[in-house]
Amino acid sequence: MTPLIVLLGLCLLVITLGYILWCAASPWGTCTRCRPGGKNRTCRACNGTGMRPRLGWQLFVYLTRFYRDHTR
Ligand SMILES: [Zn+2]
Repeated sequence: MTPLIVLLGLCLLVITLGYILWCAASPWGTCTRCRPGGKNRTCRACNGTGMRPRLGWQLFVYLTRFYRDHTR
């Protein structure tokens, strides 16, 4: 019988990979502040664009910036 922790780890890995792929496919999500309209010129969260970068994408940008700064 497979240990439960291995199955759990595998599930987590699949979910993480799926999330990474999802972020890579569409790094921009809709703004949650000015939904359902989507666009609101006075919205501060998205500057009126109706689009916001996903958390995973922000993390990716941060990590690439960090990596670039420390490998020079
Ligand atoms: Zn907004």
